[in-house]
Amino acid sequence: MTAILPFDKVALIGLGLIGSSLAHAIRRGGLSSRIAGHAQSAATRSKAMEIGLVDEVHDTPALAVAGADLVILCIPVGACGPVAAQISASLKPGAILSDVGSVKAAIIRDVAPHVPSAVHFIPGHPIAGTEQSGPESGFAELFDQRWCVLTPPPGAEETAIERLEAFWRGCGSNVERMTAEHHDLVLAITSHVPHLIAYNIVGTAADLETVTQSEVIKFSAGGFRDFTRIAASDPVMWRDVFLNNRDAVLEMLGRFSEDLSALQRAIRWGDGDALFDLFTRTRAIRRGIIDAGQDSATADFGRPHGKQS
Ligand code: NAP
Repeated sequence: MTAILPFDKVALIGLGLIGSSLAHAIRRGGLSSRIAGHAQSAATRSKAMEIGLVDEVHDTPALAVAGADLVILCIPVGACGPVAAQISASLKPGAILSDVGSVKAAIIRDVAPHVPSAVHFIPGHPIAGTEQSGPESGFAELFDQRWCVLTPPPGAEETAIERLEAFWRGCGSNVERMTAEHHDLVLAITSHVPHLIAYNIVGTAADLETVTQSEVIKFSAGGFRDFTRIAASDPVMWRDVFLNNRDAVLEMLGRFSEDLSALQRAIRWGDGDALFDLFTRTRAIRRGIIDAGQDSATADFGRPHGKQS
């Protein structure tokens, strides 16, 4: 019988923020005897070897996954289908194939057709990140105390799911299962729409004619600065998120726009009670996040954002 952990060989396809953080977390937790890696550019591949991120690096994803017991796609959502087609014939029978993409239903749609029947496909999404990217941005603690959502398709083998759950716990995460569709709705409101709002407000400020850009930068500590951190996130990753979670994002944006109109009306008519009631309710949500251990109550100024999701 296969031991739950460690894996003999894990293959990481994509060695950016998430791939490199996983490599560090795997080493910290002793979760695999060997780590193989692949990234699309020669520059990232040689950097990964230079900094000792992986034990072996390969020029193609097919070579990297050969013989691996666990393969994790750590690449932009839109790249998952084409890469799955490239590795399909090289996956070891009995291996677990997973991913870390921020959208789940579209990845299942694109990847599942390429998965051989002897391979266990169990999609996943660690709800942890920073605005940094690349092989040097990773760190072992990224997943500590953060949730990792697994979205096993109906009929997925229970033992394989439990093995992947143990792996993520070994990386420091709490694990929860849900359907891909529910995941996409939850993430639309907790992550995707907030990123869109940040991209939009920073774009609006950049296009203003009556306030200069140097004033926007100079007085940014008034709140704007926190949006710029989110709006500095990787453009390829976020383009793919919005292209692949369209329906859920549009649904949540519709709700958001209605609520924004209500706020606009309250300001226009001087309805202070409406504003006060909302701002009181939102404070309670913030307290709930701190109580759940998903952020600290430390004053924002000077907080080490590079290590926060
Ligand atoms: P990243 O730092 O930009 O790294 C992406 C990696 O994927 C790079 O190593 C890149 O190679 C490689 N890559 C891109 N296209 C490829 C292809 N066709 N074949 C092989 N390798 C390819 O991105 P990331 O933040 O780690 O994000 C990776 C995934 O994690 C995304 O699906 C994202 O949705 C998900 N995610 C991100 C966060 C976050 O906060 N960043 C959080 C949770 C989940 P090169 O370096 O050679 O370009």
